[in-house]
Amino acid sequence: MNRLSQALSKTFIFPDNPRMADEHLSQVMPAADTRIRTLVLSGRHLLNQKGNHSPTAVKTARTKQDAMERKTGGGGGGGKEGGKVVLIDPSLVFRPEEAIKKSGWNFRNFETDLTNQWMDTVKQTYLNMHTHQCVEYVQKKHKEWGQFNKFKSTIMEALVKLNDLVDESDPDVQVPNIIHAFQTAERLREAHPEKEWLHLTGLIHDLGKVMAFYGEPQWSTVGDTFVVGCAFPSSIVYRDSTFHNNPDLKNPKFNTKHGMYEPNCGLRNVFISWGHDEYMYQVLKHNKCTLPEEAMYIIRFHSFYPWHTGKDYMHLCDNRDLEMLPWIREFNKFDLYTKKEKVPDIESLMPYYQSLIDKYCPGVLSW
Ligand code: FE
Ligand code: FE
Repeated sequence: MNRLSQALSKTFIFPDNPRMADEHLSQVMPAADTRIRTLVLSGRHLLNQKGNHSPTAVKTARTKQDAMERKTGGGGGGGKEGGKVVLIDPSLVFRPEEAIKKSGWNFRNFETDLTNQWMDTVKQTYLNMHTHQCVEYVQKKHKEWGQFNKFKSTIMEALVKLNDLVDESDPDVQVPNIIHAFQTAERLREAHPEKEWLHLTGLIHDLGKVMAFYGEPQWSTVGDTFVVGCAFPSSIVYRDSTFHNNPDLKNPKFNTKHGMYEPNCGLRNVFISWGHDEYMYQVLKHNKCTLPEEAMYIIRFHSFYPWHTGKDYMHLCDNRDLEMLPWIREFNKFDLYTKKEKVPDIESLMPYYQSLIDKYCPGVLSW
């Protein structure tokens, strides 16, 4: 792990006092230049705002979340370790699709070891998700997060926040999300050097996971997504064993092929289970970011596996959705990471990505 990552991982134990924080930064990262110092120290101040995720706030959020998950029948597998919020993104752990298995993408084979604790965690997360994500729930989340009154920060500060969110998808490595962000971006940059908007898309595609710092449960932040308000197709992971308590099953209107939607109404007109994809899309739209439509589609639908990989829901798509689908499939190849991948030198990459942020989504955003 490089020096910036090391320093950032210590951001949350910085003193409130600016002079002491500055001294502390000098100790943990003596060679930091002005840009890095400003970034880390401004990230610290952000944490001290109202409604923040200072260690105390993280603890409170986690306590609330734990209580909620206990109430709703089991945790999503997360936990707090030394001020870190631990998330396990099931999308990155378990992929049942034949197409993905054949592609040679490198996944641990959780299916063959059903006693594996990670497999239990994945299934529990999906059980919670498929029990609670219904039309009413999703609409409620759109209203709640659609106020964009949780916090204010630049894109880079939000990335720094993500450093305290560990996607513990693999028991052997704990990869902070900021590393995953830069790895995805750099892989895309290597394959598509001329498409700078795609590099930035890779960097920010998971930024919506910051919801986890504000009490949003795992099953409402990460994992594969699906449409609510119409029949649940067989391509959804654990379709047969996790939906039995979903309230929408009792409403006949929601259990036909089209459900509450018109044929080929376009995915922009359907409600998809709440998670980091939809939230980040809404944040970018609300803050008038100028990324191209392809980027917005990728961010909004990259976890929508039953569609982009399972090939379901085509009867709800319009022509625009079908035109954008190849972009999402292309992106996903770079999002699925292998644990052997080298950790990028974030510090040296920072100026390039900051220039993209300044171009497409500059300044302070409302989240
Ligand atoms: Fe994601
Ligand atoms: Fe990702």
